[in-house]
Parts: sequence; C-alpha cells; structure tokens
Amino acid sequence: MKRRIAILGATGSIGRSTLDLVERSPDRFEVVALTAQGNVEALADAARRTGAKLAVIADPTRLEELRSRLAGTDCRASGGTEGLIEAATGADWVMAAIVGCAGLLPTMAAIEAGKTVALANKEALVTAGRLMTGAAAVSGATLLPVDSEHNAIFQCLAGSRAEDVSRLVLTASGGPFRDFTLDRMRDVTPAQAVAHPRWSMGEKISVDSATLMNKGLELIEAHHLFGLPSGRIDIVVHPQSIVHSLVEFVDGSLLAHLGSADMRIPIAFTLAWPERMETPAERLSLTEVARLDFEAPDPERFPALRLAREALERGGSAAIVLNAANEIAVDSFLKGRIGFRDICRVVERALEEIDPPAPACVDDVVEIDRATRDRAAALVSEACC
Ligand code: NAD
Ligand code: MG
Repeated sequence: MKRRIAILGATGSIGRSTLDLVERSPDRFEVVALTAQGNVEALADAARRTGAKLAVIADPTRLEELRSRLAGTDCRASGGTEGLIEAATGADWVMAAIVGCAGLLPTMAAIEAGKTVALANKEALVTAGRLMTGAAAVSGATLLPVDSEHNAIFQCLAGSRAEDVSRLVLTASGGPFRDFTLDRMRDVTPAQAVAHPRWSMGEKISVDSATLMNKGLELIEAHHLFGLPSGRIDIVVHPQSIVHSLVEFVDGSLLAHLGSADMRIPIAFTLAWPERMETPAERLSLTEVARLDFEAPDPERFPALRLAREALERGGSAAIVLNAANEIAVDSFLKGRIGFRDICRVVERALEEIDPPAPACVDDVVEIDRATRDRAAALVSEACC
C-alpha cells in the first residue's frame, strides 16, 4: 500500500527535497496535500506534478490565484490556518517543514491526530516541546526527527534503553563566520550570512547557522526529543559536516552517524521508516574526506549558544522568548535594519525583560510568542537608532 503523505512548507528547501524523493518513487507514495506561504506558482506546479488532492496557501489573499492556477485539475484549493490544519490531518505521514513558530498549530494538529510526523520545523518543538511530546504520548503519534543531527542521534540510539545513554554530542559546522573575529563580524552582510559553506538551506536557518543560534535551538530540540538534560548534551564544532552527531553510552562506546551533507538522507529515513529507501545523495568516500576536525565552540564570538543553554536551563517560557526574539531579529537583519551582532543583543535583551510562566497549552505559546515579537520589534527599533 502507498504511504499517503502531506508536505507542510512544500515550496521551501526541505519541502522541495521531500518532493524530489517522493517524485522518484511514485509507486511508494501518494501525495495528498501540499502547503506554502505565498508562492502560488510553485505550489500549483507541485500539486499538478504530484496529483495532490489539496493545495493550501497560508496567505489567504492569494487563494483566488491558486484556484485559477489549479483549474482543470481535481486538486482543491484552500487557505489560511484552517487550510493548513486540514492538510496536516488528512494524510498518514506529515512532513512539518514550515519555518518558524508559524508551523506550530498545524504540526500540533498532526500530532494530536496521531499521525507519523517528520519534524523539520524545529521552532515548533523549541517553543512547545513539552506540550508536543505530551500530545504524542496521548495520541500515539510518531515523531521522526528530520534535522540532520537529531536524525543521526535517532539512528545511533536505534531503540537503546534510556539508562544506557550517558551523553549526546551535537556537531555544528561553525557556519560561514567560524574563523571571523568579533570585529569582522560587525559588518557582515545578509548575503554573506546566508552563504553557508556546507548546506543549502532556507534564509532563516542559514542566518541561524551563522550566529550558531541554530545549534542553540537544536540543543533545546534534542532535550525534548531524547529527554536528556542540558548538562548531558554537548556541542562540538566539526567544519567538514561529515559526522552528523554522536551518542555516548555508559560503557564508553561512542556511536556516530556519517554521510554527505544532503538533507535527502535524513528525509528519506523518515519517509521510508521503519524501512530504508534509495536516495541520489552522493556516497561518502572516506579516503577523499581523509580527515575529520573537531573543536570547541567559542562562547565569546557566538553568544547564541550561551543564550539558548540559559533559556533551556531557566525553563518556564524562556525558550519561547528566545525563539520569538530571534525570529524578529533575524528578519530585521535580513532586511538590513540591524547588524549581524545585534541579533544576539536583541535576543539577550528580550530574555532579560520577559519571563512568563510555562505555557499550559498551545494558545499560551501563541500568546507569549506574539507578545515577545512586539517587544523584540521595539528592541530592533532601538538598535536601529
Ligand atoms: P524555507 O524558508 O526554505 O521554507 C519554508 C517553507 O515554509 C516554505 O514552503 C514557505 O512557503 C513556508 N512558510 C513560511 N512562512 C510560513 C507561514 N507563516 N505560514 C505557512 N507557511 C509558511 O525553510 P527551510 O530551510 O526549508 O526550513 C524549514 C524548517 O526546517 C525550518 O524550521 C528549519 O529550521 C528546518 N530545517 C531545515 C533544514 C534545511 O536544510 N533547510 C535542515 C534542518 C532543519
Ligand atoms: Mg541541523
């Protein structure tokens, strides 16, 4: 039987890689629903190619255009959050690949409906991790990590007993400014920040990789997915991006996952799970790689790691504040309103000023996220002056 799939964020970097794999194996997958924020052309094109039954554009002002582009097909067009939730709950397997906290409600809907959820949208897990894992335990949903580091750890764990695991080690490429001094970082441009040396990704995660906030978010993500406390999750810089992460066991064994830097490998793992499927990803030649380097991250030049660890250890709603302030600051940096180093300053100020109690439900998360965005926007305006 074919696996019936939905892709939330189908026009993005992860969404396109997922479509690439699915379209290579039409006998294995049936595309039920696809979603996008505003790129009607790419969404309608993907829906036509795959024969999707539902296409959802999050921006409701583009719905009419989507309808006319789908004329003559049996694909229904829908829009807004309601449409996203319908897309998230109508298939068996859901790729959650919307960027930012905007993906929270549909991802949560898929989990509550007991789906198999391939989770790329790390911001949803960072902001509502405890609620999400709790909802999965109630509904029986399966969460499969797509993020390469967490997918690597998931593979290394391979059903091990929790008490046999002593430590997780997340690897970080170090981003495009790994060797930059703080002085040099002051004037870097958005174009330099999104030019990642190893991975081709969306703009937001590329900037996060340059500040190392991406690794900070991944630390929180690992905590929620694997249940280890901050003190037992280490971060190591590994510029070659060959070792995707490691698990240390109580007997001293250290298991690593290696592969080329191609997101189709972890995506394929989640698509075929619990089986495996072929991918066109480049095979790794160890003799060509020849050497693997590892170094400690520099907390002075990359304060995002400290901020994320503090947010995780503080608990409450600190991770929601960290994430929302970061989303606003990154967007402002990409629009040229603030400098690269201001990103972490805005996040730090938001964490100093805002300290709400832990969210009791997803609506609380949405409200804390909204309030933090307002405050962060004001902090951005102060930083501009
Ligand atoms: P992207 O910017 O390339 O794509 C984002 C997708 O989300 C697009 O389809 C866009 O239309 C949709 N979207 C954006 N804003 C939306 C909104 N407000 N409402 C509904 N849809 C919206 O991003 P990406 O690089 O594909 O990353 C997606 C997620 O996966 C992020 O959370 C990122 O951290 C995570 N991730 C990405 C990679 C990667 O290699 N790209 C690796 C690991 C994790
Ligand atoms: Mg990652």
